[in-house]
Amino acid sequence: MTLRAGRDFLAIPGPTTVPDEVLRAMHRPAVDIYDGPLLDLTASLHRDIARVFSTKGHAYLYIANGHGAWEASLTNVLSRGDKILVLESGRFAVGWGEYARRLGVEVEILKGDIRRAVRPAEVEARLKSDKGGSIKAILVTQVDTASGVVNDIAAISQARRAAGHDALLMVDAVASLGCMPFEMDAWGVDLAMAGSQKGLMMPPGLGFVAANDRARHAHRTADLRTPYWDWTERESEGHYLKYAGTPPQHLLFGLRQALDLLFEEGMENAFRRHRLLAEATRRAVAVWSEGQALTFNISAPEERCDTVSVVLTPGFDAEALRTWCRENCGVIIGHGIGDLSGKAFRIAHMGHVNAPMLLGTIGVIEMALGAMGIPHGAAGVQEAIAWLGQQVGPTAGAMTATAKR
Ligand SMILES: *Cc1c(COP(=O)(O)O)cnc(C)c1O
Repeated sequence: MTLRAGRDFLAIPGPTTVPDEVLRAMHRPAVDIYDGPLLDLTASLHRDIARVFSTKGHAYLYIANGHGAWEASLTNVLSRGDKILVLESGRFAVGWGEYARRLGVEVEILKGDIRRAVRPAEVEARLKSDKGGSIKAILVTQVDTASGVVNDIAAISQARRAAGHDALLMVDAVASLGCMPFEMDAWGVDLAMAGSQKGLMMPPGLGFVAANDRARHAHRTADLRTPYWDWTERESEGHYLKYAGTPPQHLLFGLRQALDLLFEEGMENAFRRHRLLAEATRRAVAVWSEGQALTFNISAPEERCDTVSVVLTPGFDAEALRTWCRENCGVIIGHGIGDLSGKAFRIAHMGHVNAPMLLGTIGVIEMALGAMGIPHGAAGVQEAIAWLGQQVGPTAGAMTATAKR
């Protein structure tokens, strides 16, 4: 017996669902890469990626996934033997730091915990004790997709200021950009990076880096620079050089459409949509957790991010639940990764996601909990529906109208 038919429902934290408009925008003939409209498209994308990061700084577009953008970030501003501080709050900042170590950078990890956010006070204390200013950069993720945490980047930047330290602040925004506010300039972030396939509703394949003047100043003397990632090469006049070779033109067509969708909705409205769908998910999880078989990974409610909910499953096998959802209903939820492998599942609510998609996903999870006989508080989905209904209110289109004002 199966209820699976048609498209699978992808609720993993990347790659995420690609809107039909974006798929269609890529389905077209190839164009000239030396002349014509593609040159203007490149200019518009550099401008608009900087806009999404909220920076007046420079944006770079790479044919790469997030790992490539990690390497692009590190090699452009660091030198062999430099020391950096990695702020742990899950898995991804540590993974980025591991790349730095393999490039010849000395890496110190500020110990954190997979169940909580980075503590800005601990960052301040560590930077204050770095009397000689030997720490050249700080690496942190805004959202860690393994733990489901959101770090307070503004507060971490403020901690650096309070310590009177001038290390570059480098932020991984792969799992938050386009979904949650990111204010690169206002927060004092020097370098930020992301990939195309999460909040930006695109296939994997494009990596983005944004850099302010401080980062570009560090670039001048960085000796880890390599030809392919090098910002100086990519700031050349020639269009071909901006991609260090053939531009990924179909991905660029798709990205243009994805950004147009985001701007049409309004970034504030997109943030609000994510906040509401995330909170609806959390309300359902909170009810389910009354059965004591599952619980939130992130302990403090205000540290839970709006793009992925990570749920620990001490009372049952998370993989069995995932298999049930996939095989019976075609709903694909994320698995626990790193230390949480086999001990958690992850519900992504990131990018091109709306109320029926989210309610469908949590509806199937609740169905699985019941069918598999896993103890859980009943009617979690009902709770999510009631809360969302209250937020939207009685008037048709009320939310969109508010967002547009
Ligand atoms: C997905 C992810 C990455 C890695 O991106 P890839 O495109 O898979 O290389 C890095 N950081 C965070 C926070 C992520 O969620």
